[in-house]
Amino acid sequence: MNVDYQHRYYDGTPLPLPVGKIVCVGRNYVEHIRELNHAMPTQPILFMKPSTAFVSLEQPIVLPPGSCHHEVEIAVLLGQRLKNADRTMVLSAITGYAVALDLTLRDVQQQLKSHGYPWERAKSFDGACPISPFLHPQELPDLQNIYFSLHSNGQLRQQGNSNQMITGILDLIAYSSTYFTLLPGDVFLTGTPAGTGELHPGDQLQFTLAHKVFTTQIAQ
Ligand code: ZN
Repeated sequence: MNVDYQHRYYDGTPLPLPVGKIVCVGRNYVEHIRELNHAMPTQPILFMKPSTAFVSLEQPIVLPPGSCHHEVEIAVLLGQRLKNADRTMVLSAITGYAVALDLTLRDVQQQLKSHGYPWERAKSFDGACPISPFLHPQELPDLQNIYFSLHSNGQLRQQGNSNQMITGILDLIAYSSTYFTLLPGDVFLTGTPAGTGELHPGDQLQFTLAHKVFTTQIAQ
């Protein structure tokens, strides 16, 4: 169990949910697939991070050794158990939305992938999922139009909108629930748009999720 992190709303209210696993999708935005020179997937590419990857995005982010890249993503918190769910069941299980970083040791990932090995060491290390506090679902009523962005040191690095996803939020989570039972307190990361790049100690980061802004820095 991750004792240093708890899910909470941005007004500070803790959510009465355990801190579960993180299910992620690779290659869900066309421009990001192009920048990494990947083929278009025929179905969602799923992977996971353990609960020990969660850290609050409002604390300075401590990077692991190596070249660590940012992937800014919309995060979806689930409050109910989902197995073989349909879109309606997924929608009623969503308890909050946040903005998160899918931190990636890109060199390690390329090396592992070139050998056909699993890439957990590149994406599932302690602290590999800095995440903001959650917005209430009522604050984002249109799932097809959620804007999000990342600035570093005042420069826009990444921006996206859920309307650019290859597989939308409800379909992604429903698809995942046919393979992995999703439990209350699990979080889904919905993929990153173009513009991923390296993070450096001292970087000042600003995140936007719809009308909310969160700021943090990379620890020195
Ligand atoms: Zn990602």
